[in-house]
Amino acid sequence: MRCANGIEARQVDELAINIDPIQAGGRLTGDAMKAVIAYGDGYSVCDNCRKPNRLDYISKPPIAEFHKDVAAWLNMDAVRTVPGARRGFQAVAHTYVQKGDPVLLTSLSHYTEFLAVEGAGGVACEIPANDLRMVTPDATAAKIEEVKNQSGKVPVLAFIDHVDYQFGNMHDVKGIAKVCHQYDIPVLYNGAYTVGILPVNGKDLGVDFVVGSGHKSMAAPAPSGILATTAERAAEVFRTTAIIGDVTQRKFGIKEPEMMGCTLMGVTLIGMMASFPHVRERVKHFGRELENNRIIVEGLCSVDGTKILSEMPRKHTLTRADTICSFDKVAETHKKRGFYFSSALEERGVTGVIPGATKVWKFNTYGMTDKQAKYLAEVFADIAQENGLSVKK
Ligand SMILES: *Cc1c(COP(=O)(O)O)cnc(C)c1O
Repeated sequence: MRCANGIEARQVDELAINIDPIQAGGRLTGDAMKAVIAYGDGYSVCDNCRKPNRLDYISKPPIAEFHKDVAAWLNMDAVRTVPGARRGFQAVAHTYVQKGDPVLLTSLSHYTEFLAVEGAGGVACEIPANDLRMVTPDATAAKIEEVKNQSGKVPVLAFIDHVDYQFGNMHDVKGIAKVCHQYDIPVLYNGAYTVGILPVNGKDLGVDFVVGSGHKSMAAPAPSGILATTAERAAEVFRTTAIIGDVTQRKFGIKEPEMMGCTLMGVTLIGMMASFPHVRERVKHFGRELENNRIIVEGLCSVDGTKILSEMPRKHTLTRADTICSFDKVAETHKKRGFYFSSALEERGVTGVIPGATKVWKFNTYGMTDKQAKYLAEVFADIAQENGLSVKK
């Protein structure tokens, strides 16, 4: 089946249990799919754009209301939509970071945070995670002191991932933000793996910015995301344009330079909006997701030699496994080498594990039914047994 010449219809989540680490939370809802078809045309949300012309003021469809709802939901004061979490990082970095300024990241930070710092001319200063792969308030204080002593400057901004992409570990953002604020360092909460997945309360965490990814965690099309902030910081990052044309003397009203005026103008925004009621509901049931993850991790660990590299018990469904002493042993002699593992999974209707990976790999169990979770737990044990690995009962 094809959409057009050379473009095959994609049927991944329709046909298999998808445990791809980055895809599970971005799978569209049925409502988002309908909205995407209706708003596929370019600039489709602009039909009823009236003065003052800016995306977040449009009331039909209810874009303005959506902005208010998302701000309230995250317990922040102002929200804008952005083309991906990374564009949120970029807007904030561009506002606060000057050439040569130190910026706090962590040893588990995502590359897009580094690129945002680089784009603004900043210097990356990583707070090291400890032996348990956790970033702590104490390590944050030590890093700030180290940067101060070595460069004579205090970091101008901190990017802290609540749940990191490497282990899916949950870090003490609240404690870290408290330390940063003792030095007047604004804190950006990176919620790429949390906003839309579990409840997030920005004011309670005491952070200055909350960034979320629509396509990773809010059941929205790519590229989409949100940037939320406090009233104080909104005046800075969402400042309005001041530029004037020298020939025409034109000014551009309430357009915001960091947002390049307007951001998501069609399917991305409408898809995110259509999923939002579902997303708002699903975060309340994250406990079920953890229970499913527990069942699956238990199934995987029933295979002798398997280790979980993420913190235990799991606080997030993104999990990193080490199967060097289990599934990788089979790869040494199997005729398909490491590829036997992903193909055995595919044969059983499970997709999303990197083909060939049998050593250290990640999976995300988000969004499964209980039945699928139990099934997947059995699948791991079944593949192990079929290949002569020993399985605990
Ligand atoms: C996926 C991810 C991002 C990037 O999100 P986009 O919305 O694709 O820009 C940033 N940070 C972390 C921790 C991520 O996991």
